Amino acid sequence: MSAQTPTDPELLAELKEATAELRAYTQWADVAGVRIVSAAPAQVQRPAHLESPPVRGAPQYGLPTQAPSALPRAPSSPPPSNTTMPPKVPSATALPLPVLVAGGANPTLDSVRTELGECTRCKLHKTRTKIVYGVGSPKAKLVFVGEAPGEDEDLSGEPFVGKAGQLLTKMIEAMGLSRDTVYICNTTKCRPPNNRNPEPDELSACEPFLVGQLAALKPQVIVTLGKFAAQALLRDQTPISRLRGEWREYQGIPLMPTFHPAYLLRSPGEKGKVWADLQLVMKKLGLPAKGA
Ligand code: SF4
Repeated sequence: MSAQTPTDPELLAELKEATAELRAYTQWADVAGVRIVSAAPAQVQRPAHLESPPVRGAPQYGLPTQAPSALPRAPSSPPPSNTTMPPKVPSATALPLPVLVAGGANPTLDSVRTELGECTRCKLHKTRTKIVYGVGSPKAKLVFVGEAPGEDEDLSGEPFVGKAGQLLTKMIEAMGLSRDTVYICNTTKCRPPNNRNPEPDELSACEPFLVGQLAALKPQVIVTLGKFAAQALLRDQTPISRLRGEWREYQGIPLMPTFHPAYLLRSPGEKGKVWADLQLVMKKLGLPAKGA
């Protein structure tokens, strides 16, 4: 029987949309610098960085279980049952998850840092002074993820050492912890010029190293500071004012979005909200409750 061309207008429209989705997904993968492998979704289910087997025998870091926000929707309605089916186009949710192949089947903080090297993978390398990798305990149960280094961090090579960093340190100590017992890092490891926001290509280029750090640490809880860290890890464009204070999940790890300390320096009236968020984190970690 010869192949037939579908003539149903709704089916043709869905085919066109699905083709565009596939093209957009491929372009995203190119920008993100990831390699798409033909693994079935079940092979890369959560927590990928903890449990998924290496793909094609290559070492890898796990990647977010959710598709990027730029990934378009799947076709909304099925084709009529009496129509000859065209070759199946994968829906967005059925597309294989991107898998980045990088050094270390079981990454450690050191192996991820080695892989990072004197990185020139994005344009931020041209203006940085020092790469700001991360600081804290390799056994940390709690990881704070900010957005990008500022001037003080760029000069010192350590995250959160300026005024916002000092406030973060106070927040950590108010929880009964210390900088030595948690881990602190950023979504991008180099300072954007003039402290501008990190751009999508920079976030994409640097993301595998944050993913590697989280895969190495396997924390019990992640706290994202500010909108970029939350939106980058959650693939969610919801404003941070609505994201904060609600538990989310990243690769099976509870994630609490909250405001960035730099925002609190500008809006000290919001400190109470952050403290409320951190109290939820303390409860999740089994830490004793403390007053504000
Ligand atoms: S921001 Fe990240 S990807 Fe870009 S140059 Fe720095 S370390 Fe490399």
